[in-house]
Amino acid sequence: MESSSPPLQIGILALQGDYEAHRRILESLGARTKAVRGVADLTGINGLLIPGGESTVMSRLCERYELTAPLKEQIEAGMPVFGTCAGLIFLARETEGTSANFEQTGLDVLDVRVARNAYGTQIESFESEVFVPQLGESIRAVFIRAPQIRAVGEGVETLASHRDMPVMVRQGGIMALSFHPEIAGEDRLHRLWLDSLREAASREERKAEL
Ligand code: GLN
Repeated sequence: MESSSPPLQIGILALQGDYEAHRRILESLGARTKAVRGVADLTGINGLLIPGGESTVMSRLCERYELTAPLKEQIEAGMPVFGTCAGLIFLARETEGTSANFEQTGLDVLDVRVARNAYGTQIESFESEVFVPQLGESIRAVFIRAPQIRAVGEGVETLASHRDMPVMVRQGGIMALSFHPEIAGEDRLHRLWLDSLREAASREERKAEL
């Protein structure tokens, strides 16, 4: 639904990984985007996208730029987030397969247990159709050294599965995928997420008018 309200401003964590493809998709869907590389970039955004990439590097860079704590704080305060692949790992409460010589610092905000690289190595990457009940259709999903969601907490809703395993989950304002939609030029999940932000914003507006 198009509205006359100002466009959504979406922050994209742009320290490492596949952020450029997400920027193109979000902008093609009418959102404004802002690269997030430091704490100051977190002001004035309606939501944050955490791309795929390498979660160990991402979390190290977030520590170095002192972004981990403020990110966690804003997400816990209700900032909507969309995480894909490494982004899912970074959001997860529990991670299997973190390298022994590196204590991975995740955001610890999404109540799932993920196993890194559990869909296989780089050369075992694959593309598959994933049925998304909310859309009533299948979308194209690319799995690249993808994490498997091995357990989900009570407050976590599974929005789509692949071979009986959750691959798309939601907990409050957090939506996360174990695969990459953007590589296949798939924009329906970005659209879904933006629509949920617009709906939440208009609910707030209506509340304020009462
Ligand atoms: N295997 C990567 C990790 O553990 C994630 C891969 C991806 O984002 N495509 O961080």
